[in-house]
Amino acid sequence: MNFIRKLTVRSCVYRNFSVSAANNANYSCKLLVVGGGSGGCTIAAKFARRLKKDSVIVLEPSSEHYYQPLFTLVGAGVKRVAQTRRSAQSVLPQNAKWVQDAAASVNARDNCVTTAQGHVIKYEYIVIAVGVENDYAKVPGLLESLQDERSGVSSIYAAEYCENTWRDIKNFKGGEAIFTYPDTLIKCPGAPQKIAYLAESYFTKANVRSKTSVTYNTCLPVIFGVKKYAEALLKVVERKKINVNYKTVLKEIHPDRREAVFFNTADKTKEMTMRYDLLHVTPPMKTPEFLSSNKDIVDAAGYLCVDKYTLQHTKFPNMYGIGDCTNTPNSKTAAAIAKQCYVLEQNLLSSMQSAEPSQKYDGYGACPLLTSYNTCILAEFVYDGVPHETMPYDQARESAIAYYMKRDLFPFLYWHFMLKGYYHGPEFVRNIVNPFAK
Ligand SMILES: Cc1cc2nc3c(=O)[nH]c(=O)nc-3n(C[C@H](O)[C@H](O)[C@H](O)COP(=O)(O)OP(=O)(O)OC[C@H]3O[C@@H](n4cnc5c(N)ncnc54)[C@H](O)[C@@H]3O)c2cc1C
Repeated sequence: MNFIRKLTVRSCVYRNFSVSAANNANYSCKLLVVGGGSGGCTIAAKFARRLKKDSVIVLEPSSEHYYQPLFTLVGAGVKRVAQTRRSAQSVLPQNAKWVQDAAASVNARDNCVTTAQGHVIKYEYIVIAVGVENDYAKVPGLLESLQDERSGVSSIYAAEYCENTWRDIKNFKGGEAIFTYPDTLIKCPGAPQKIAYLAESYFTKANVRSKTSVTYNTCLPVIFGVKKYAEALLKVVERKKINVNYKTVLKEIHPDRREAVFFNTADKTKEMTMRYDLLHVTPPMKTPEFLSSNKDIVDAAGYLCVDKYTLQHTKFPNMYGIGDCTNTPNSKTAAAIAKQCYVLEQNLLSSMQSAEPSQKYDGYGACPLLTSYNTCILAEFVYDGVPHETMPYDQARESAIAYYMKRDLFPFLYWHFMLKGYYHGPEFVRNIVNPFAK
């Protein structure tokens, strides 16, 4: 381990040394934010306002920023993918310096990051916000199926494939429609079933439901992790006559035969082959390789080790993490980030003033579980699956208000307030409309 650390330190020094010869650049900053997605952009906005110009560097390779929560409604034909996309330039804070490159390694002991293009960025403080990525290779046959327009296989979990889900739902003439949930941690754990409910509603509207079997195969032993909402969702499943197979994971796809092979998590030797006409896949997910391979800062599963309350790294006090790439046991959602960003901001400010972080993240997350084209169960909860609702009605009830909040209000809040660092979740609204909520 020490040997590896020494090598990494040397690699930083070497790159600094080779700047002029290799056209590489050296940067240094007060705060380096790695990843400019939901979490990174929000935190960068907060600190770019507080610190001098270019004291914050955002390291982000992509020139486009997506509001991913709308991918579900893209898959259901309600929105177009273009409506979820903005240029990174337009959302990243003006006062921060954007280095358009990817982190290749983080040397937490020497406070520097080396980029894919060989630049070296020295920092005083760092926030890691690189999210999770789809691990297509884990399911043989998946990527080639997604890339084949006639395969009947799609996924709302990628900007490049989510419109194909709508194409497949719209063109579906009846038969076997299968929806999957993988055996890894995923972002928005509600989305794999939301798209099944929306598809079922569309099949009914298009008069193909009577000749269709809808199946939801999930690795989980329950329909949803929070009991209150799981009970409500089971009624939805029953009403919609959706077959649910628990502990059932997609192993491989044979696109030539339109067959999907599943295994049982309790007994992996038990396999089940199902024919499909439409297959919606939620791919396995993982953190980016530069992070998962850095054993100095991640847990055994490759997630950044942070204190689940303060979001400070457990070993390196000048390092914080936000969003999907950390090992906090909350539901990985943009809603969680809204709450985390305030805690992280306050705690990082304390660290900058040599004080101990004192703000605590309570594990808040929200999941608007769309159950049709005009209803939604708005699940809100904190650590240990304890419901924490904002509205003054029972949110386990399917409601139209929650549907329009998901479709129109949340994207508005995201683009105009959250990414600018001004939205910290619905606490403020909760205190007004539901003051007696626990
Ligand atoms: C289909 C779907 C439905 C969803 N529905 C909801 C919902 O209803 N409600 C909700 O709250 N949330 C929902 N989410 C989840 C939400 O979108 C994510 O939890 C949130 O975007 C995570 O933010 P993040 O900053 O952690 O990661 P991201 O927003 O994914 O950003 C990570 C960034 O890191 C960058 N990056 C990656 N590797 C590197 C590298 N090596 N160096 C530098 N940068 C790098 C990436 O380019 C990316 O910009 C949904 C997501 C999906 C896909």
